Amino acid sequence: MNLPEQDLVRHVQSLLDDPVHQGHPLHDALQCLLAYSREQNERLARLVRISDGYHSISHSRQETLTQQYDKQLRRLEKLTRISDRYQNSLRELSDALRDSAARDALTGLNNRRFLTQRLQEETRLSHRKGHSYALGILDIDHFKRINDQFGHVAGDKVIVGIGQAIQTALREYDICGRWGGEEFLILLPETDAEAARSVAERVRLRIAELGPALAPVLGQPHPISASLGWTQYRSGEDFSETLTRADNALLAAKSAGRDRTVFIA
Ligand code: GH3
Ligand code: MG
Ligand code: MG
Repeated sequence: MNLPEQDLVRHVQSLLDDPVHQGHPLHDALQCLLAYSREQNERLARLVRISDGYHSISHSRQETLTQQYDKQLRRLEKLTRISDRYQNSLRELSDALRDSAARDALTGLNNRRFLTQRLQEETRLSHRKGHSYALGILDIDHFKRINDQFGHVAGDKVIVGIGQAIQTALREYDICGRWGGEEFLILLPETDAEAARSVAERVRLRIAELGPALAPVLGQPHPISASLGWTQYRSGEDFSETLTRADNALLAAKSAGRDRTVFIA
């Protein structure tokens, strides 16, 4: 109840209390009206209190909901960051696994598994497009003697050196790798016999340079050579037939005295 109302009520009450007005015909009715007015005012005051209370509850509840939402959002962002990191490391791990499944651990070159796959693909492609590829197998000469004389660790370094020498002699799109032991495979896509001969000669020259280059590793200059067997893919044949022919060419190079290249067209 505001002040003018309180004044009015007080005024009416004092009139009612005045003995002069006792017995007035309107005295009782006014008494009832005043009581009713007080009752209504109290009811109104209660409603205002309830409404105020409701407002403050809903305000604080709204605040808590916003805080909860922010908290959940931050939690979600953190989870997303963790999941991103997890996925990245999973991806890196699977890339590393795929890479290690295709690479030779000693030389870092392609391994036999990768080379076989690539050979199959190249055979299919060459057959479809009417191309030919050149295939070479390289085997280090008298490698057992190098191991025996300088030790297995030095032997390993020679294998690594041969791998690097082959790589530097090849063109950008040529493929090479370790076929096994002291043998390497060289695949020259879309290459005819004449171009293959010039690449093969470059490989032989690079290997000839290895003797002096590896002297610090072996403790003394030691001639290092390799024999190479080369052939061309013949349209329609299976890659294993090409491979066998390259192997036969290699055997012929060994039989002819090593340190040489033999081609079987
Ligand atoms: P050839 O000229 O007829 O090829 O004679 P070679 O001595 O090179 O051939 P042979 O097959 O008799 O010996 C190959 C040697 O290569 C035997 C083996 O111990 C060695 N070898 C194979 N793999 C590795 C390797 O990863 N590291 C080392 N250090 N030696 C290896
Ligand atoms: Mg061998
Ligand atoms: Mg050998």
